[in-house]
Amino acid sequence: NACTFARSCLDAGLRGLYDYLDGVVVPNSCDIIFSMEYFWKTLVPRPTKPALIAGVDIKPYVLYINYPEKIIGREVLPYYLEVLKGFKQELERSLNRSIPDADIERAISVYNEDKDQIRRMYEMRRSDPPALSGYDAWQIVYAGLLMPKDEHAALLKDYLDDLQSDGQAAPEGVRIYLSGSAMDSVNAGIYQIIEDSGGQVVSDDLCVGTRAFWYPLKQGLPPLEAIARRSLGTACPRSTVTTAIPENRWAHIVNTTQNFNIEGAIFYVLKCCDARLAEFPHLRDKFKEELGIPVLFLEGDYTSEGLEQMRGRVEAFIEMIEE
Ligand code: SF4
Repeated sequence: NACTFARSCLDAGLRGLYDYLDGVVVPNSCDIIFSMEYFWKTLVPRPTKPALIAGVDIKPYVLYINYPEKIIGREVLPYYLEVLKGFKQELERSLNRSIPDADIERAISVYNEDKDQIRRMYEMRRSDPPALSGYDAWQIVYAGLLMPKDEHAALLKDYLDDLQSDGQAAPEGVRIYLSGSAMDSVNAGIYQIIEDSGGQVVSDDLCVGTRAFWYPLKQGLPPLEAIARRSLGTACPRSTVTTAIPENRWAHIVNTTQNFNIEGAIFYVLKCCDARLAEFPHLRDKFKEELGIPVLFLEGDYTSEGLEQMRGRVEAFIEMIEE
């Protein structure tokens, strides 16, 4: 069983839609993505020739990062640092140049500046009505994954300055917290269904959302350590600690709901997304018992037709909150 999101990425690779890439990095981000290293290596035609020395490809097309599943314990940080050092060496071989610490430090400060601007955008969604719609905010976060971070941060700063001085606001709506699986341009149709139904997403627990910027990289540390600590400190549902509901997962949800005046939470989870499906019952109960927030669960299949079938349930949920 593989989630339809990961399958469709592989399908795009098989059809040559990514043949402009020089390489692909596969992290061990969940059990499904973990298996994608094998499929990309064996099935997807590589557009570049291998650089073989004694039968070993010194510039592999697919690189793998073994991000630890267990993120606490004395050995985790040293282990992950070694993984990142190995990854850096592979990159250096592929690029034919060394990557000095100063370059990584510069990149860290660029990334942090971008995260600051995205956080500022989220702060502007605390007001009622929020300064911009949930769909617009998602588009901005998503664009930041596809373009150079320095350009993204500069454009976003100008946009937010204009928004602030014009005093614009999104349409009012029932204030929704959105949680769920990979949120790309197909799944993001859920934002529009929520807005059409009289809701407005004002905060989220998404990897293309709060988890992308809520945790800045610490400056003043050796740069690879800053990257390792930031990854291990991110409240990702695929990571294991010692409790059924990892405290960092719930703390992240509390932090990203506080002062957003959330009226309802929608979980939009893809079929076979075990990391999200496994934690849902615990989180649903905590939302209701500790935050007093009603929850709607939607299981998606990564198609726009499947999304449309959910429209009625979203409308009914929002109507129920309005009553
Ligand atoms: S949607 Fe879920 S199963 Fe699919 S790649 Fe993301 S975390 Fe893994």
